[in-house]
Amino acid sequence: AKREGKNTYYFYQPSLSESATRRYTLETDLKSAIQNGQMSLYYQPKVCAKNSVIMSAEALLRWHHPSLGFISPCEFIPIAEQTGQIIAIGNWVIKEASMQALKWQQVAHFERIAVNVSAIQLAQDDFIEQTLATLNETGCPPSLIEIEQTESALMDKMQENIQVLSALKQAGFTLSLDDFGTAYSSLSQLSQLPIDVLKIDKSFVDNCATCERAHMVVKTIIQLANNLGMHTIAEGVETQAQLDVLNSEGCYMYQGYYFAKPLPQNEFEQVLESQSLV
Ligand code: C2E
Ligand code: CA
Ligand code: CA
Ligand code: CA
Repeated sequence: AKREGKNTYYFYQPSLSESATRRYTLETDLKSAIQNGQMSLYYQPKVCAKNSVIMSAEALLRWHHPSLGFISPCEFIPIAEQTGQIIAIGNWVIKEASMQALKWQQVAHFERIAVNVSAIQLAQDDFIEQTLATLNETGCPPSLIEIEQTESALMDKMQENIQVLSALKQAGFTLSLDDFGTAYSSLSQLSQLPIDVLKIDKSFVDNCATCERAHMVVKTIIQLANNLGMHTIAEGVETQAQLDVLNSEGCYMYQGYYFAKPLPQNEFEQVLESQSLV
């Protein structure tokens, strides 16, 4: 608050028109962002709990705007979803990731690349057809691609989603449930989903070494996954103390700044080739 004379305070707040202008700019510029080469994928290692070897990577989208700088996916993905641009962007992500997966599968222990797929993409009637056509162009088999779907997005149209996921699974994709534990899927719903991996949400991982209840949630998710024949990965691992707890509960894979931040393609490639994490 800025004090202007006696008892008069002015508070700075971005005006409605300022945020509307930014939103309009982003929406407009998003249309040509791919053609203009402003989009890129960063890759964050997912490592084996036993030996820290990189088994896969999550592809995370980055938009470098010419005048506004890096825009967080948390800001532009929702815009792309509202305008339908997520379809073209999502296809581009799959194409890019599949080209990299094809290349990196040659490195020992590296299995696949995970992409984030929006609920809007999954709801398209031709999502599977389109995705398989894209992979056909690059020559990448579905077994090199993992599809991450958030728990909350899936719960929306459960019956339809079970069918799409089953077809994807049949086609050879690996499926993982992102941000697990933050939505309220019932056990019966969860058991019907053909999911391979539960991603334990960062909020539980954050607190698992300092809060006994968060620890118990993590422990329970890992047991549940094991009982349903699914693997677990903890996201957002940042400290040794968190790692100790996760190890003691038998978590299968880790992802987080403790190991590596999301890296540009060439840097990820260097790390992958040297396998010199931690
Ligand atoms: P997400 O799928 O939950 O991705 C994990 C986010 O956590 C990423 O943020 C990642 O950089 C960050 N992260 C990873 N490890 C750590 C850690 O140890 N500490 C902290 N503090 N953060 C960590 P990012 O890259 O900003 O992405 C944010 C969200 O944007 C993603 O959340 C995902 O929902 C969405 N997103 C990113 N790329 C795509 C994409 O290609 N398509 C779609 N539909 N959504 C995407
Ligand atoms: Ca994800
Ligand atoms: Ca996540
Ligand atoms: Ca999360």
